[in-house]
Amino acid sequence: MGERIIATGFKDEDFELEPKLRPKNLENYIGQDSVKNNLKVFIKAALQRKEALDHVLLYGPPGLGKTTLSNIIAEEMGVNIKTTSGPAIERPGDMAAILNSLEEGDILFVDEIHRLNRMIEEILYPAMEDFVIDIVIGKGAGARSVRLDLPKFTLIGATTRIGLLTAPLRDRFGVIQRLEPYNVNDLKTIIKRSAGVLDVGIDDGGAEEIARRSRGTPRIANRLLKRVRDFAQVKYNGEVTLEVAKHALDMLDIDKAGLDTTDRKMLLAMIEKFGGRPVGVETLAAYIGEEAETIEDVYEPYLIQLGYIQRTPRGRVLTRLCYNHFGIACPDNI
Ligand code: ADP
Repeated sequence: MGERIIATGFKDEDFELEPKLRPKNLENYIGQDSVKNNLKVFIKAALQRKEALDHVLLYGPPGLGKTTLSNIIAEEMGVNIKTTSGPAIERPGDMAAILNSLEEGDILFVDEIHRLNRMIEEILYPAMEDFVIDIVIGKGAGARSVRLDLPKFTLIGATTRIGLLTAPLRDRFGVIQRLEPYNVNDLKTIIKRSAGVLDVGIDDGGAEEIARRSRGTPRIANRLLKRVRDFAQVKYNGEVTLEVAKHALDMLDIDKAGLDTTDRKMLLAMIEKFGGRPVGVETLAAYIGEEAETIEDVYEPYLIQLGYIQRTPRGRVLTRLCYNHFGIACPDNI
């Protein structure tokens, strides 16, 4: 299967422009007002007390700005940030080495923190709570444990699956904030700002059309903007208007609600193949060739937000809105 343009994960093409598109301070970080307002207070208080910020856990679907926000927090605190991820740290020694390299007030950003293995997690408990690590020196009968002091640092964890975090780890975060999908207005602002960075002309209608089809996700909004820009350049006079955006997004097979062919395949199967009966997520996953986990964390939240799909104990069911979207008559029992 080809890669989905609406995939929310990082793609190679994102690397090149990513540093330019990423806002660098809270002022340019659009939306997420409650998270931003809370963080402003915590940052100000920590700066006034000349202390490290309390540990922060950010959660929510991919592409909503967790990494961006973590970098902004470092910027606002005026400290260094080191970045790693749950799957990247394989041995306890790796984590000990990273912790040891931190300076007073530094931020350690751990992406996909739910994927840390248990042994490594256990190193984090005393590190986060008392700023110490216990390391074992020597082997066998001569082995002994030594306690090392760490500088006061801030751990920022990011996860798409807060439910998979163990309670002892979760409890060690003083600040837990959930990022929400963005509304169309915020996405419009992000798209216009990105268009400015990319030096492409865009009008209000063009920005709104891209915003509506971006699944509430800035990463997708930026990616769609780049593709629409290509169309504007090759097939039109370079300016992104409503007409250009509609044409380009239709050509990319992203429909008015932001659904792509895989979404439609899944939803239509639920209507046509499974006859509107509840369907288990594993069955759906097998049908469209994705992991069940990917459906649950990445694709389904948007379909639920749209009100097209509902989770029930017997499986996923479609709503009347979903039938309406496809212009298919809805069975009476829905
Ligand atoms: P996550 O870590 O949650 O997967 P990222 O922080 O990598 O998401 O964000 C993806 C991209 O979306 C960023 O590069 C940035 O350009 C853009 N972005 C995310 N949040 C915002 C925001 N609030 N304002 C402007 N752009 C944003």
